[in-house]
Amino acid sequence: MKVVLEHLTKRFPNRNKKGDDVIAVNDFTFEIPDGKLIGLLGPSGCGKSTTLNLISGLETPTSGKIFFGDDDVTRLPPENRGVGLVFQNYALYPHLTVLENIQFPLKNLRGDKKLSKQKMLEVAMTVAKLVQIDGLLERKPSELSGGQQQRVAIARALVKLPRVLLMDEPLSNLDARLRLQTREEIRRIQQKTGITTIFVTHDQDEAMSISDMIVVMKDGVVQQIGQPQDVYDSPVNLFVATFLGTPPINVFDGKVNNEQLYIGDAAVCAVPGVKDQPVIIGIRPEGFNLDVQGSFEVYLHRVEVMGRDTSVVSAHPACRNEVIRSIIPAKNKVDKTAKTVRFTLSPEKVFLFDAETEQRIPFPVE
Ligand code: ATP
Repeated sequence: MKVVLEHLTKRFPNRNKKGDDVIAVNDFTFEIPDGKLIGLLGPSGCGKSTTLNLISGLETPTSGKIFFGDDDVTRLPPENRGVGLVFQNYALYPHLTVLENIQFPLKNLRGDKKLSKQKMLEVAMTVAKLVQIDGLLERKPSELSGGQQQRVAIARALVKLPRVLLMDEPLSNLDARLRLQTREEIRRIQQKTGITTIFVTHDQDEAMSISDMIVVMKDGVVQQIGQPQDVYDSPVNLFVATFLGTPPINVFDGKVNNEQLYIGDAAVCAVPGVKDQPVIIGIRPEGFNLDVQGSFEVYLHRVEVMGRDTSVVSAHPACRNEVIRSIIPAKNKVDKTAKTVRFTLSPEKVFLFDAETEQRIPFPVE
């Protein structure tokens, strides 16, 4: 089911009645293709949950429209939209067994949608198998691990065969290992069912790893929409560049002079076609190449062995980050006793941003 958001806006009145309204979602227009998994990503308070609540019907938009396929669902109550919801707190009924929890939404069906006991069991068993919880059907939620509880919550959301599955930080209550495992599970289940899924998270690794497309939001405004790798490789502004990537992008103040990019006095990269101006520079950790002849010299702090790669931690007066983090292949040895280390830069890993607007200034990479 394709989901279309048209100029979707949600304003909340300011609680103390002074000052402006909070614009939680500001003029969001986007078409989510059928059967895709979309990651809504951004820092706390950027409007992710509000967007999801608008799509589910838990909130009503101030203006704008929402379509599921060709149906305008903007004014439909949540129960008539055909959405499945999964939240951070699994919200299972503690006194019901796993099977009863999964069947619960089916028991409320009325009229021609009402199912026989046998049919309910069949449907519940199918989704229980899908989320691989069918061995634990007689247990109560308190007898399950966090990951298992979240699977039950997903099964419960799927049991009515929703048109759209909405997940709000579904992995937040899980420990690091379970998060990894469960996010892969979600991807598997989503691909198997083909249900259009919108997944809210503030964790960029999570969003990047399982989404077909990510939507990066800030202060209620969509910053960029695209395939995770494309957004990482080609961020539209400084915010998106700094929000994506672990370790984070290294940010410097610099300038362009005569189509050369300068950090301090060093010309570090050719930037053909860019006019002379002060700029903000972002360099991905993998954009540094050890080179004794390199023009970019930094103060070496330490070298961290990471197995396959080595992390070189260094400093430079023009860097806005606390330290510069560069990732180089482990076979390239760094002299740990040296005071400084020199790099050349890979131009495709170097991004320029306007010093005022922080919008990307593109330049051709040979
Ligand atoms: P988090 O990751 O912390 O959950 P979020 O990105 O999901 O954040 P939202 O919960 O959508 O953000 O909130 C967006 C903005 O709208 C915030 O500034 C928030 O304070 C405000 N907001 C949300 N709900 C209400 C409400 N009912 N009344 C007033 N303001 C609200």
